[in-house]
Amino acid sequence: MKKENSSVPDRQFIMTVKGPIPVQQLGITDGHNHIWIDAVPGTDAANPILDQFAPIAAELIEFFLNGGRSLLDCQPYGCGRNGNQLLALSKASGVHVVACTGFHHRKYYPQQHAFWDMNAQQVTDFLIGEIRYALSETVTKGTVGMEPVKAGFIKIALEAEWEDCTKAALEGAAAAAYETHLPIEIHTEKGALAEEICQYFMDRQVSPCQLILCHMDKKPDVSLHKTLAEQGILLEYDTFYRPKYEPQKNLWPLIEAIIDAGFEKNIVLATDMADRESYHFIGNGPGLASLPGEIQERLKERGIPEWAIQQMLKDNIARCLAGIDY
Ligand SMILES: [Zn+2]
Repeated sequence: MKKENSSVPDRQFIMTVKGPIPVQQLGITDGHNHIWIDAVPGTDAANPILDQFAPIAAELIEFFLNGGRSLLDCQPYGCGRNGNQLLALSKASGVHVVACTGFHHRKYYPQQHAFWDMNAQQVTDFLIGEIRYALSETVTKGTVGMEPVKAGFIKIALEAEWEDCTKAALEGAAAAAYETHLPIEIHTEKGALAEEICQYFMDRQVSPCQLILCHMDKKPDVSLHKTLAEQGILLEYDTFYRPKYEPQKNLWPLIEAIIDAGFEKNIVLATDMADRESYHFIGNGPGLASLPGEIQERLKERGIPEWAIQQMLKDNIARCLAGIDY
């Protein structure tokens, strides 16, 4: 295999829905997205649903044709994840899909969902089961022809206030991350509790290199970002197409400031398109292809060096998924 100018060794593997792939095959990767969300009975009808196979597959093919190779799907079990559809979409498009285990905000689950009654040990066992054996919905008993699909990372969601976060879930996720060395993508409410949650996980022996703080560009505080990056934590940015967060004023200068400070190895770029309006073939939005396409182009136009672009679009997330500390 051609060894590019890359910080990622090619001896380690990343778990995708189709099985393990060598880390070098990951290629340009959307670090946080949603490509399938089933409707969840008993939840708010306004919650996002993404369940149109043909246009989503077309979208993934467009992503591939623009140079995108992989994508992390951030929908955990119980709130609309469907590992069987993720596998079918990956097969239909050629895009590597990395599925997650973990938990989302409580509002996305039916009221009596069993996950929220689990103690920390049960959460750990459940997450490790989905990592080592199969996502729950891909091994439904008695269904012929289903293929077990494994999780490749852990995704959790924080509330805005620490008191509102479910401690058993956090405790369970920490132990599962410690045990498996997989990354934890942490949904933050506009960057809230970023330092607290990282300290929480590090106190439980989770390496800072396993931590990915999501949506941090919604809190474009350069000195906070540098403090986190200095510890080895990854920062995920995804407001490229969210006018509400004024990406021109906040996100783009933030990317440049973090690179100028020497922390390009700590940035993960994504588009987080959980809503149909963002999809090209469903809502006439920018679509999944925008990351390898327009966004990559804009990074070049702004004079960001190619090596830094490659770190932000593929090497950083690849290293993290493969469990390579640096
Ligand atoms: Zn998301």
